Amino acid sequence: MNVILLGPPGAGKGTQAKRIEEKNGLIQLATGDMLRAAIAAGTEVGRKAKPIMDSGQLVPDDVLIAMIAERIAEPDCRNGFILDGFPRTVRQAEALDAMLAAKQRKLDHVIEMKVDDVALVDRVTGRFTCTRCGASYHDRYKQPRVPGVCDVCGNQTFSRRADDTAETIKARLAAYYGQTAPILPYYRTKGILQTVEEWPKSTR
Ligand code: AMP
Repeated sequence: MNVILLGPPGAGKGTQAKRIEEKNGLIQLATGDMLRAAIAAGTEVGRKAKPIMDSGQLVPDDVLIAMIAERIAEPDCRNGFILDGFPRTVRQAEALDAMLAAKQRKLDHVIEMKVDDVALVDRVTGRFTCTRCGASYHDRYKQPRVPGVCDVCGNQTFSRRADDTAETIKARLAAYYGQTAPILPYYRTKGILQTVEEWPKSTR
């Protein structure tokens, strides 16, 4: 099964993708995480992507299309994947269809996650993660049980994303509504789009 999670920054795509991954044995492919790994590794892609990501704009389509084409060809994606953060433009969506068709594969579900903008800004600007296990926390909604200590692994260092600032979130939302939301009619026409307004509390 191949699934896409579509939604603005802070909608909870990463959290839900991890849950679907665990429950269904699919692989989460998060392009934002791949780009941040490229930045940390100091690759050429990472060096070019960093200033673009820090400004809240989208990294060029060709870079992302090549990255995903390479990744879905790997054996661990054979049983299916959950795309989290890709496609983000109509061109990426069309390229994805072409690469899947070339492998006699297809998309099964596209899930749009809708959240009100004020809640998104609030969620994104307060979030932080454990640097060791990646568990996520929030300044107001989910502090670690023991201050400064990760609930999951006991680590004591946390990080915040460079682009999770009040300023950058505005550009990221503009990119979502201007460049990514136009993908929705594309999938609606194909009959594979479902919209979720709020996830049940138990799956949060
Ligand atoms: P995310 O972690 O999904 O919020 O992505 C963080 C940033 O990485 C975005 O604001 C973009 O700058 C870049 N990015 C991630 N995925 C894509 C994509 N599919 N196309 C273009 N840029 C992307």
